[in-house]
Amino acid sequence: MKAVVNHILPFSSVDGPGNRTVIFFQGCNLDCKYCHNPETRNLCGHCGDCVKSCPTGALLKRENKVVYQKDKCVDCDTCIKVCKQGASPKTKEMTAKEIFAAVKKQIPFIRGITVSGGECSLYPQVVEELFVLAKEAGLSTLMDSNGMISFKEYPGLLQYTDGVMLDIKCFKEKDHIKITGHPNTMVLENAAYLAQLNKLEEVRMVIVPDLYEGKESVKKTGEFLRKFPGFEKIRIKLIAFRPMGVRKEYAHYKTPEQESLEEMRSLLQKMGFETIILI
Ligand code: SF4
Ligand code: SF4
Repeated sequence: MKAVVNHILPFSSVDGPGNRTVIFFQGCNLDCKYCHNPETRNLCGHCGDCVKSCPTGALLKRENKVVYQKDKCVDCDTCIKVCKQGASPKTKEMTAKEIFAAVKKQIPFIRGITVSGGECSLYPQVVEELFVLAKEAGLSTLMDSNGMISFKEYPGLLQYTDGVMLDIKCFKEKDHIKITGHPNTMVLENAAYLAQLNKLEEVRMVIVPDLYEGKESVKKTGEFLRKFPGFEKIRIKLIAFRPMGVRKEYAHYKTPEQESLEEMRSLLQKMGFETIILI
């Protein structure tokens, strides 16, 4: 079984507690307007449009497939700008064992691994296999997920997952469809399921004033989560929209005022949440 990997970041201090290696998978089952890595949304369709744009000849078309030669790439990202399909030619199909081989070198310096994307849950078998290897090596395991697959159906995966950092893009279904193209029923079901299992490590909300009413969404999300025992320990991350990396048709959205983010934080604090991070 293989998964398509966009890249592996050897060290990160922002993808869960401590220093971690992060594996970014390719492909996503949502299409968020404010996506900061839009080139990770789809798999390469091998159309070949980007091949000629590469200044170093790192891309070749061979037998109807685009071949990426990492040793010739200077990471100028011209190919990504050219691609109209929300994809990247700079990906690699990898087994769990191959991914873990890239993690191993960092073991003395990291607390754990985090799988992200794109959307890591598109590859549940590979992630489970990878987490088994990570656990054997004494590493902690976190998923950064949009919660669009039913976690209930993957007990094996959850057994080896220490926690999920879940996006609740917004609480109101109508707005969720506007932002992502999909309803949030499954996301909320997963939030409840993970909270009951004590595996809801973090809830992330990107605040975009041009797309939905942030304060109302944060309030409703807080009220929803506080039904679960131990909710105080769920870390909440409120992320201010910023235009970096966003597709140009959505880059004009405004960044929220610090004051309104502070209001949201204080609302959650009053509900009893202990850790609220504004970024
Ligand atoms: S990022 Fe690499 S593969 Fe893409 S155009 Fe630049 S050199 Fe070529
Ligand atoms: S990365 Fe995009 S432009 Fe390049 S071959 Fe794949 S689909 Fe075509």
